[in-house]
Amino acid sequence: CAAGVFVVARDWLAPALLHQDLSSTADLQTRLAIYKGNPFAKALFDNAWWSLQSKITGQPLHRLLGATRDQVPVGADFGVMDSIDDLLTAIDTAVAAKFPRVKLKFRPGWDLEMLRAVRRRFPDQMFHIDCNSGYRLSDAELFQQVDEFGLAMIEQPLQHDDVIDHAELQRQIKTPVCLDESATNLRTVQQALQLASCRYVNVKPGRVGGLNNAVAIHDACRAAGIPCWVGGMLESATGAAHCVALAMLENFSYPADIFPSSRFYHQDLSEPAVELTSLPDGTPAVTAPDQLPEPVPERLDRLTLERLVLK
Ligand code: MG
Repeated sequence: CAAGVFVVARDWLAPALLHQDLSSTADLQTRLAIYKGNPFAKALFDNAWWSLQSKITGQPLHRLLGATRDQVPVGADFGVMDSIDDLLTAIDTAVAAKFPRVKLKFRPGWDLEMLRAVRRRFPDQMFHIDCNSGYRLSDAELFQQVDEFGLAMIEQPLQHDDVIDHAELQRQIKTPVCLDESATNLRTVQQALQLASCRYVNVKPGRVGGLNNAVAIHDACRAAGIPCWVGGMLESATGAAHCVALAMLENFSYPADIFPSSRFYHQDLSEPAVELTSLPDGTPAVTAPDQLPEPVPERLDRLTLERLVLK
């Protein structure tokens, strides 16, 4: 949680970095490696380094990360609703808005019947489901039934820290498995690639310890022929712009889960807020900014619970 990140950053990570000359985030991560885990706290410093580097050099962040694209398509995303009719109405809107793929939450009680209704109404739209670790390998038969719906992938069907059961499940079904919660660091993703636990990886910069690690995971997946996509964790516009910049890398080839600020916030902490753009054919997209959004000082003040000055 945010309070834990604050304490780890204050008591351990910040003192290890203060007065150090850091030539890269690889260097930064090496200095922090003796502190196990705590990816969100590490991401704070890694991403801050990239923000500063972009500002100092005047280079857009996505260029610093090695991207050559400036715009990529994004997907639509729908949770569990009061009724399947409500969901079908929501998907109608997304299809009319030309979202290239739609992600659906999938859990006991909101599963095959929901998928059947969605597929009947939208035979050609690209869909995938996200199970948020809600199932076990003993549910393999359920996922064999999911195969008939022709989904793009099944996101994180099994436990949040597993790569072994996912490999076994992937052997038993046709639909690609995508790791999300399990993709916590480069080493675990490499093990998943070795075990053939998945055919997609969802990368969230915060969860993997920052952009440095997110790029490394992207590169490892590219080398293994496994496409990735970028997910978000309710970032402010500053954090979302990091996700946007990351999503410009070429192996992020499945449409990202990046949303306009207005989806989650009445008023974003940072300016400018994230807005969707469109590709020439009307597909909803995000465009990498030349300059990153910055927190608005009055809004930051209003929401600040605790303050730390590093000297
Ligand atoms: Mg997910």
